[in-house]
Amino acid sequence: MEPRGTKRRAEKTEVAEPPNSLPHAAPSLPTKPALYSGPFPFYRRPSELGCFSLDSQRQYHGDARALRYYSPPPTNGPGLNFDLRDGYPDRYHPRDEEVREGLDHLLRWLLEHRDQLEGGPGWLAGAVVTWRGHLTKLLITPYEQQEGWQLAASRFQGTLYLSEVETPAARAQRLARPPLLRQLMYMGYKFEQYMCADKPGGSPDPSGEVNTNVAFCSVLRSRLGSYPLLFSGEVDCMAPRAASTQPPTCYVELKTSKELHSPGQWRAFYRHKLLKWWAQSFLPGIPHVVAGFRNPEGFVRSLRTFPTMEMFEHVRNDRHGWSPSVCVNFCAAFLSFAQSTVVQDDPSPMPSSPRLVHLFSWEPGGPVTVSVHRDAPYAFLPTWYVEAMTADLPSPSKTTSPKD
Ligand code: GDP
Repeated sequence: MEPRGTKRRAEKTEVAEPPNSLPHAAPSLPTKPALYSGPFPFYRRPSELGCFSLDSQRQYHGDARALRYYSPPPTNGPGLNFDLRDGYPDRYHPRDEEVREGLDHLLRWLLEHRDQLEGGPGWLAGAVVTWRGHLTKLLITPYEQQEGWQLAASRFQGTLYLSEVETPAARAQRLARPPLLRQLMYMGYKFEQYMCADKPGGSPDPSGEVNTNVAFCSVLRSRLGSYPLLFSGEVDCMAPRAASTQPPTCYVELKTSKELHSPGQWRAFYRHKLLKWWAQSFLPGIPHVVAGFRNPEGFVRSLRTFPTMEMFEHVRNDRHGWSPSVCVNFCAAFLSFAQSTVVQDDPSPMPSSPRLVHLFSWEPGGPVTVSVHRDAPYAFLPTWYVEAMTADLPSPSKTTSPKD
């Protein structure tokens, strides 16, 4: 669905503007939930195209070596008592968040598998390529009241690539992250360690270190309305005894939350936290989120499974709740907006050509706005990717006649 009154037509970029043209309103996209309350749009059942792993040094491997296996404690065993603070900070090796990876790992996977993509020739040229986490942010935008975002977009060989840019506010917050929040982040990873084994049928080993460089990423194909999607998301674990062992339906997302007591606390949890959990797991088609509820001392004493497709039921009758249709309609409207805004295919095969980036920016309370940039710091498609993809194209000399 498209919001009323939105400019849908492609706008010329600032650089291409004729010098004496009349001023026109810059294109923007409104984000108010009421504009997106139509029926749920088509969302293709996500299918896994492949996967890759990042090791403890953040090195890429084109296999599932970092995949872990869901191994919850026996239900008939002693009372649950996971100490989420155990090992902090001595056995914590956090990822270096100053390293800006952009889409690099996903692009490496794509480069290595571009000839085997399903969907037929030309499928990739019509697709949007991004991280799942970026799409999650788009989905929750109509309801988000605190954190804005910026997404850099470049079109290359038809494909639209979207890569998040850390906003100055987010960077400032990250650098000033309070010690308690750092510990809380650790506790989320520690919970995964208590719930996962390295081998199917194995037992968790909480004695080791928590290294957040390690990641298992699933690469998925879907389609939202008429927009084919290729995205990757980090997956916590697979359930070896799931009803279906086929990814992504065998995957499980693990989360922690404060213990909730009053009906008011549950309501707030359903309104805010469950929206984020739903958006993140709905996109890749992960059917279950298993939550560990921690007490004020940081011990998980209870678990609860939330089926992704039932999360909305908790807010269906809440006037301050969220609607999956609003989220997905907004995401579709953003993709339409981005596709019609980013018209010029760039980088061109000429090595010295500038790298064009449209930067989509959003702050709560306002519309999504666009600015146009070239090269650093926003250009994000790496040279190794552009060159390898360009080398694939038939060279102009092969298409000219021998007489020329
Ligand atoms: P998520 O849905 O937000 O967890 O993000 P994705 O699953 O789409 O992950 C995208 C990439 O970002 C992967 O390489 C992840 O390892 C990495 N990543 C995951 N969580 C974070 C985070 O909190 N901060 C940053 N900067 N990167 C993350």
